[in-house]
Amino acid sequence: MERFTRLLKVPNVKATHDPVVQPIYQTSMFRMPDHRVAAATEHAVHPDSYYTRWGNPTVQYLENQLSTLLGCNASLVFPSGMSAITTTLLSMVGPRDLVAVSSGLYGDTTRFFVEELRHWGVEVALFDPSRPDTLPALVRRGAKLVYYESISNPELRIADFDAIHAACDSHDVVTVCDCTFSPPGVLSEKLRPADLVIHSLTKYIGGHCAVFGGSVSGWQSLIDRIWHKQALLGACMDPQAAWQLSQGLKTLELRIARQNATALQLAQRLAAHRAVEQVHYPLLDTRPGARAAANKYLVGGGGVIAVALKGGEPAAVRLVEQTRVFGLSVSLGGVASCIEHAQSMSHSMLAALDERALSGVAAPADNLVRLSVGLEDATDLQQDLLTALELAEPAAPRAAVCEFVESGS
Ligand code: PLP
Repeated sequence: MERFTRLLKVPNVKATHDPVVQPIYQTSMFRMPDHRVAAATEHAVHPDSYYTRWGNPTVQYLENQLSTLLGCNASLVFPSGMSAITTTLLSMVGPRDLVAVSSGLYGDTTRFFVEELRHWGVEVALFDPSRPDTLPALVRRGAKLVYYESISNPELRIADFDAIHAACDSHDVVTVCDCTFSPPGVLSEKLRPADLVIHSLTKYIGGHCAVFGGSVSGWQSLIDRIWHKQALLGACMDPQAAWQLSQGLKTLELRIARQNATALQLAQRLAAHRAVEQVHYPLLDTRPGARAAANKYLVGGGGVIAVALKGGEPAAVRLVEQTRVFGLSVSLGGVASCIEHAQSMSHSMLAALDERALSGVAAPADNLVRLSVGLEDATDLQQDLLTALELAEPAAPRAAVCEFVESGS
C-alpha cells in the first residue's frame, strides 16, 4: 500500500480505560462493520453512530444530560434555540391546524408563528399565559398545539401552569413551553411545564456566552417525531458545540444560585431608586397573581431583571450606554452581565408585526431596559447601575454663570 493510503488507514486509538470527560467524536460518519448492520442502521431512529446529521455520541451525551436534569424521557439538541423551536413546530402542526400562542413571546418566535406558519395556512390565536381565560375555548375549538414561555421575555410574567394544564388535560393537544428563562434552579423540580420543553442553550445552560444551541425534551414518541424532521431539515448540532455545552452545563447549579442571589439583591435596590418607575422581577412582581405563581412554581428568580424608567425611552437609551460592568449586549443568562433596550433590540421586529399581522402581540414598552446578571461581584454590579442611573438622568438646567464684577474695575 502506498504510504499516503496507509496514512489514511491508520486505525483510531481507543482508550483502554474510560475517559473522565465524554470525548468529542468530531466525525461526520462512522465505519459500519458489514452491510447488514449498515442497512439496518439506515432505518434506525436517532442512531448514535452512523451519520452525524442523524446522531453522534458527543451530541447524545448532551441530550442525555438534559433528559436527566429535566426529568424527561428524551431530548434532542439543535444548533440554536430558534432551530429547536422551528423544527418542533414544523413537526407538530400543518395547514388548517389551529394553534394557541402566548401573546408575549421572544420576538423571533412570534415572527415564526405570524410570518411563517400563518403563511402556510396555520391559524394562530393569541392568549395570555399568566391569565389564560380564553385558552379553554381555543382548546375546545380543536387547537392542536399550545405554545408559551414559562417566564416571558422581556416582561417576566410567570405562566399560570395549573390553569393551562387544566384547559389542556384530557384534550388531544400538545403543550410546548419555552423554559429558557427558567432553567433548573429557577423552576421548581416538582413542576412538569408541558409535554415538550424547549431551551435556548445559548443562555443559562451553556452559560459562558460562547456557544449557540437549542433543545427540546419530553415524551419519547413526540421526540422521535421531531427527530425525523430534524434529520430531514439538517438542523443538527456540531459535536464540538455539543461538547462545550455539556461542560458548561455541569456548573449550572452553582452559576444559577449565584445569579439568583445577585439579581434579587439588585432588583430590590433598583425598586427603591428614584429614577425607576417599576421593576419586574419574578420574586418581587406585584402584578395580580404574580406572587402566588412565584411561590407555587419557582425556587429562584433567575438572573434577568426588567426595569421601566420614569424618564421614558430617552432615559432607557442613556442608561444602556452608561454602564461599564453590564455590557451592551442582546443575550442573557451567561457569566457576563449585560444590558439592552428591549423594544429596539431583542424585540425590535415586533413593531413592524403589530401593524400588519396580529393585533394583541405584546411589544415591550419603550422605557423598558432588560438586565442579565452574571457572575461579577454583586457590589461592582450595583455600583455600576447606580452610577449609570445618575449619568442617565437628564442634565439639570445649567445655573446661570454670574460673573462677579468689582465695582470700579
Ligand atoms: N427563546 C427565548 C425565550 C429567547 O430569549 C431566545 C433568544 O433570545 C430564543 C428562544 C432563541 O434562542 P437562540 O438565540 O439560541 O436561537
